Amino acid sequence: MNRFAKPLLASAALCVATLLPARAEVDVARLKTAIEVLVEGDYPKLDALYKDIHAHPEIAFQEEKTAAKLAAEMRALGFDVTEKVGKTGLVAIYKNGDGPTIMVRTELDALPMEEKTGLAYASHDKTSWIGRETFVAHSCGHDIHMASWVGTAKTLVGLKDQWQGTLMFIAQPAEETGSGAKAMLADGLFTRFKKPDFAFALHDGAFAYGTINYRVGIGSSNSDSLFVRFRGRGGHGAAPQATIDPVMIAARFIVDVQSVISREKDPTEFGVVSIGAIHGGTAENIIPDEVLVAGTIRTFKPEVRAKMLTGIERTAKAVAAMSDAPAPDIKITEGAKAVMNDPGVVATAEKVLKAAFGDKLRPSPPGTPSEDFSEFINAGVPSMFFNIGVYEPERVAAARDGSGPQLPANHSPLFAPVPKPTIETGVAAMTLAVLSTFDQHARGK
Ligand SMILES: [Zn+2]
Ligand SMILES: [Zn+2]
Repeated sequence: MNRFAKPLLASAALCVATLLPARAEVDVARLKTAIEVLVEGDYPKLDALYKDIHAHPEIAFQEEKTAAKLAAEMRALGFDVTEKVGKTGLVAIYKNGDGPTIMVRTELDALPMEEKTGLAYASHDKTSWIGRETFVAHSCGHDIHMASWVGTAKTLVGLKDQWQGTLMFIAQPAEETGSGAKAMLADGLFTRFKKPDFAFALHDGAFAYGTINYRVGIGSSNSDSLFVRFRGRGGHGAAPQATIDPVMIAARFIVDVQSVISREKDPTEFGVVSIGAIHGGTAENIIPDEVLVAGTIRTFKPEVRAKMLTGIERTAKAVAAMSDAPAPDIKITEGAKAVMNDPGVVATAEKVLKAAFGDKLRPSPPGTPSEDFSEFINAGVPSMFFNIGVYEPERVAAARDGSGPQLPANHSPLFAPVPKPTIETGVAAMTLAVLSTFDQHARGK
């Protein structure tokens, strides 16, 4: 029998009847139910917090009101809260005897885009972003993460006689720009505070609520941003012979760069380059002096990344040389690194989550988006990052078999998680994952 299961069940027995000691699997399944019952009682408060944060999102490094809301919640639970770590981040510590320090991370930020869900609690807020006014929306679902994070803290504090150690709950700014984790680390996250022994984070996605996707090893992609400025010689559109046409050069690059993916990279390895922006020219009859092309490069493995960066650079130089243009300015900025889930941390959590969620816990292939949670892992903290679904299982099934519409994914203006079952799954899964690690440590394994 799982060591923590019996006393936990005993403490939750007021809420859940007939909790009989039995095989570990059964105990954990009932433990999950017990946690859900605890969460259920507190759900109205979590729902109000979620809808308030959803309706009033804040963008990278502007998350002051959001951070203040979370700080108040954590202080009310008895956490020692430090604000403004990494500009707008916060660190909440709860000490409960000897044992490991376990970090649980949420993000604080929303996206510069308009929400079009039509929900009663939809965001209509606007802000200033790179010198322009923009709508703001929690279209990546970080508000779900925040509600689950507060719910997990409440549940773990409620069960504090069942574990020993320190909870380090952090709320990180600016995940979407890939800079918030770095900012917190640079501001002393692991020096002013104790470096955690283990860490967990979750992300929601467009699959069925109640299900959890996870993986050992690579969990998300390396992200690099690409900026190439092609320079030519401007002139009249009717006399191209007197010009060097950077629009033509850029167009060639945009097509030819895909041959790095299809001809140079090992086809069995993941690698993507997508050009997301082209800026050049002012009128139909003027060949401009220069064109700027911007894109994103995603890979899982460092060696694939290195090969792609070399090929992309060579292609940019070659297309310019073809037109006898000057060498282009090429800037590649490193974003988030791939998340690597620790096999030991995953194995410990997996046993308990499998027993609790059964076949709703699913190993899944790595995701191609990127995540700066990798910064904490690369700073030497063995971790697990997992995903939770947000939509009604029937709608997901209908979308899959074609009998219903496709469901909006993260970053869609229509992304609309079903709050209650999603947050409850987030709290239950995260609570069990943290408890499994405390329990494993207490048994000296
Ligand atoms: Zn996102
Ligand atoms: Zn996100």
